[in-house]
Amino acid sequence: MKKSQPSPEQHPTADVLIIGAGFAGLGTAIRLQQQGIRNIVILERSDDVGGTWRDNQYPGAACDIPSNLYSFSFAQNPNWSRSFSGSREILDYIHHLLNHFNLRQYIRFNQNVSNLAWDQDKGLWQATTTDGGVFSGRTAVMAQGPLSNPGWPGIAGIEDFEGKKIHSAAWDHDYDLKGKRIAVIGTGASAIQIVPELAKCAGKLTVFQRTPPWIMPRPDFTTPEWNKTLFRKAPMSQSAVRKALYLAHESMALAVIWNSPLTRFAERLGQWHLRKQVPDRWLRRQLTPDYRLGCKRILVSNDYYPALQKPNTKLITWPIDRISENGIRTVEGIEHQFDCIVFATGFEVSNAGTPFPITGIGGRSLNEEWKRGAQAYKSINVSGYPNLFFTFGPNSGPGHNSALVYMESQMDYIVRSIRTIKSLKLKALDVRQSAQDDHNRSIQKRLAKTNWNSGCQSWYLTEDGFNATMYPGFATQYAKQMADLELKDYRLLAEEAASKTV
Ligand SMILES: Cc1cc2nc3c(=O)[nH]c(=O)nc-3n(C[C@H](O)[C@H](O)[C@H](O)COP(=O)(O)OP(=O)(O)OC[C@H]3O[C@@H](n4cnc5c(N)ncnc54)[C@H](O)[C@@H]3O)c2cc1C
Repeated sequence: MKKSQPSPEQHPTADVLIIGAGFAGLGTAIRLQQQGIRNIVILERSDDVGGTWRDNQYPGAACDIPSNLYSFSFAQNPNWSRSFSGSREILDYIHHLLNHFNLRQYIRFNQNVSNLAWDQDKGLWQATTTDGGVFSGRTAVMAQGPLSNPGWPGIAGIEDFEGKKIHSAAWDHDYDLKGKRIAVIGTGASAIQIVPELAKCAGKLTVFQRTPPWIMPRPDFTTPEWNKTLFRKAPMSQSAVRKALYLAHESMALAVIWNSPLTRFAERLGQWHLRKQVPDRWLRRQLTPDYRLGCKRILVSNDYYPALQKPNTKLITWPIDRISENGIRTVEGIEHQFDCIVFATGFEVSNAGTPFPITGIGGRSLNEEWKRGAQAYKSINVSGYPNLFFTFGPNSGPGHNSALVYMESQMDYIVRSIRTIKSLKLKALDVRQSAQDDHNRSIQKRLAKTNWNSGCQSWYLTEDGFNATMYPGFATQYAKQMADLELKDYRLLAEEAASKTV
């Protein structure tokens, strides 16, 4: 006889359903709470908050935007121990937010959302979780993170390797690396933080490089005690430092986003850094990028180049052919043997699809609509998916400034929209397709002139070369774009006027 399926567990309807308890999900809850909106449910697939900073605990993990700017403007921390804090300290800051703003009451841990669907008749978003729970909300916020699912490379034979495999975003702290023969695949933001740490303990460390990154000096220092005391006693001084850091990063947009004389200046700085740290001509040549600065993410490090020159460390630039039982074979036929392979290979990015199925008005599928590249209105709403808000949605990515600056603009836009939905007693706030199309035409036109679209391959682009990731402008312009909720760009459906059309 066929076993009957357990009926799904239905939870009370929330005003706001937030998916993800990283910076974005928690920050949105704080902002909502400050506006008196408290009927909030945050669904988090893990058993702790923190997102990026809970998962990325690899040796050397740290932010690469100064902590005084990589933190919320409304919850500044005077006690950062360094200018660029480590992962553990950032996670502590997130736990502080959790406790200080009393957010735990909203969070349902171990709830992995696998489906989100708009119920036309009820005017509700229904989130289904992998263990059968159903949570509904009048509005929903996607705060599941732009970089939250580890990306494994499609290298042949990856399953065959009999040694230890570790992804940078899911570090195994129980595995003893001391004296081991370790390979690192990848030379991106995580790799250049991991390599110097592994070089300290590995018996033999081999770094497999496909493309060398542009690397700038990192102005990293321990915060003196007097500085912490000053920030504690005179918070305005910390706001002033934050503002100065913000403006300094804004000016970097001129080098990073567009091809300008400042790009050339920054390239010279990168070349100087390389020359200063790497005396060997051949190694320097291998480490010199052959693409324009800004096209891929620019990195900051003072200890990556020195680590590569340690006697136990080697850089391999031959492309990888396959992974074998014992190690990695490069295309010229040499097999390099390892005890452990570290995959610093980044994340699955949802720039051509959604992280789980999302169904809008009339059963339309966002995954289908985004297959050729994601598009949204002001990065935050998608036509046909009313009352749904994206943090780090399409074309909101920063290349030169703190992600949290962009995030704060998104959070405030979401709160403004939700307040409008409540105060106007709307069943649905749905952006007009024409407004979305106009926005995207303008964004793509502006992107065509940026360094990101200048010809290199990067995770910012889809396979077809469509840039659904980055915002082509200053953070200040992005904040201005998000400052107003322009109701003329939306279709508004009042609760009492609800009809079958929505
Ligand atoms: C190693 C690393 C270093 C970085 N350094 C910087 C930096 O220095 N400066 C900077 O500006 N940016 C940096 N970033 C970018 C960083 O991702 C953002 O700054 C920020 O942390 C994103 O926060 P978030 O809340 O949007 O996402 P996340 O922190 O990824 O949080 C998303 C949360 O959603 C949960 N979730 C995901 N899917 C589901 C689901 N289906 N159901 C339920 N829950 C789900 C996840 O478990 C996670 O807790 C870095 C990213 C990485 C990976």
